[in-house]
Amino acid sequence: MRTVLTGTAAARGMALGRARLVRPSKLSVDNRPLLDDEVEPEIERLHAAVNLARKELVELRDKLHGALARDVGEFIDAHSMLLEDPELLHGLDDMIRNDRYRATAALKAQADKLGAVFEAMDDPYLRSRREDVDQVLGRVMAVLSRQSSNEERKLAARVGEILIADTLAPGDMAHLAGHGLLGVIAAGGSVYSHSAILARSLNLPMLVGTRDALSEIGDEDLVLLDAEAGKAIIHPTAQDLSRYRAWQREAAREGRRLAALAKQPTRTRDGVDIRLYANAEQASDVAQARALGASGVGLYRTEFLFLRSKGLPSEDEQFQAYRDLVLGMGGLPCTLRTLDLGADKADNAGLSLRAEENPALGVRGVRLSLRYPTVFAAQLRAILRASSYGPVRILIPMITTADEIRAVRSLLALCAREVQESGHELGEIPEVGAMIEVPAAAIGIRNLVADSDFFAIGTNDLAQYVLAADRNNDALGTLYDPLQPALLRLIARVIGVGRRSGKPVSLCGEMAGDPLLTPLLLALGLTDFSMHPGQMLEVRDRIGDLERARLRHLAPSLLRAASSQQVAALLDSFNPR
Ligand code: PEP
Ligand code: MG
Repeated sequence: MRTVLTGTAAARGMALGRARLVRPSKLSVDNRPLLDDEVEPEIERLHAAVNLARKELVELRDKLHGALARDVGEFIDAHSMLLEDPELLHGLDDMIRNDRYRATAALKAQADKLGAVFEAMDDPYLRSRREDVDQVLGRVMAVLSRQSSNEERKLAARVGEILIADTLAPGDMAHLAGHGLLGVIAAGGSVYSHSAILARSLNLPMLVGTRDALSEIGDEDLVLLDAEAGKAIIHPTAQDLSRYRAWQREAAREGRRLAALAKQPTRTRDGVDIRLYANAEQASDVAQARALGASGVGLYRTEFLFLRSKGLPSEDEQFQAYRDLVLGMGGLPCTLRTLDLGADKADNAGLSLRAEENPALGVRGVRLSLRYPTVFAAQLRAILRASSYGPVRILIPMITTADEIRAVRSLLALCAREVQESGHELGEIPEVGAMIEVPAAAIGIRNLVADSDFFAIGTNDLAQYVLAADRNNDALGTLYDPLQPALLRLIARVIGVGRRSGKPVSLCGEMAGDPLLTPLLLALGLTDFSMHPGQMLEVRDRIGDLERARLRHLAPSLLRAASSQQVAALLDSFNPR
């Protein structure tokens, strides 16, 4: 019989498929108190389960590739970190040792205790972080219950299914999405959860808070997930199905309309040409960038090459990767960013650095490169060699002072001589640009003009440093806000100085690819955007709808705004409802 459940749309869209129920593992919490001689073995059992859960997370991370690996990797890392949290782990040990709880009972008690703390929080975003704790503790529980029942982990995917679960960890979602999952109906969860954020970026329709989903929906039931209307329809009728087909037709039309834009120029309604560059790291990004009419590659993050290879990649390996990028872009300019690693990631890239308390404020980006001139020179030589195959620009991350740019230029000149002497082809010496992501560089941008050929604003880092809000710390989500007026003033300043001094300025942080922020960036005077190719058509579409001159008039008010809410209000009429 047709039954309709309501939930909250966390990611829009519709999907029709067979239900696949994943019940919260029936964890028989064992409440019998431990005997004295059972305490230590129980602690060992818990530690082994925690380690295995951590290993599963690492395996999950390794299965992901490309942009997904980057986005989801952060979520998985957050879960791994929770599993290493000394307070959490000591709390569990104490319950076993002092209160004689068994491991499962300790996990349950800890989840309840932390759950109560999160529930008491006013901020809905922070409240939603409870989900992460539940998912992490649930993972350990699942390992323990598997050990006692020998049950295998069952989250293998089958194509054409809609997953019905209480909540779903982001890593699992990414894995299943890659194997044909059509949508998710969560009984719990929140629109702020990591999984919800991920579902939106994967275009995977998702409902959260669909209270009775686990009791009302049966395995294999046909379900119409209508995340446009916040509904899940079990056993849909012919009428429901025809509504679904109408939606499909409309979605396909919209897809075709956007696809047609691939061949169109990027131009505002009042006729101003805007350039869209791609942030690209791998072959598929490059192919997509070309197909969608990118003006070139605005950001190639070379550290991925270092993180992927075991040990440092050789000059030849680097040369081949850079050359392939340049060839792939067929004569369009490619901006190669030199290594941007800090003490937190250098280990994985084959460099052993002293651990730092604050890697984001430590030996990172150009600071690291200049301290390892042999490694840096190999990278510069590889870039110089690739530059004989097409136009290349060199972008230096984490520039704070002009001295750093001058030091890079000296090394580059030395490397050019070496390349020539070793008999390799050498094209024109590439332009050298500074990434503007350190507040001092943005405030003192005039001091960098003489030594820079171009600028690229890295708002992901600029925002974290201006707002003193770690970009990876979810707890600061509401503070890490691209609409903060202090950030906008710095962006406008860099764009203005660039224009007056004839130095091109692009923006390559996540802001550039968010169509809701397109009017803001046009208002601030940006003409060169760099984003993941997957975002280019939507941004081009937005640009075509907007009048730059009108937006430019708004700039003074935006820069005078007293809060991000005021900025949002000023932009309100420019964004679609
Ligand atoms: C930035 O900081 O905005 C940026 C584009 O670089 P990354 O995200 O690699 O730090
Ligand atoms: Mg950065």
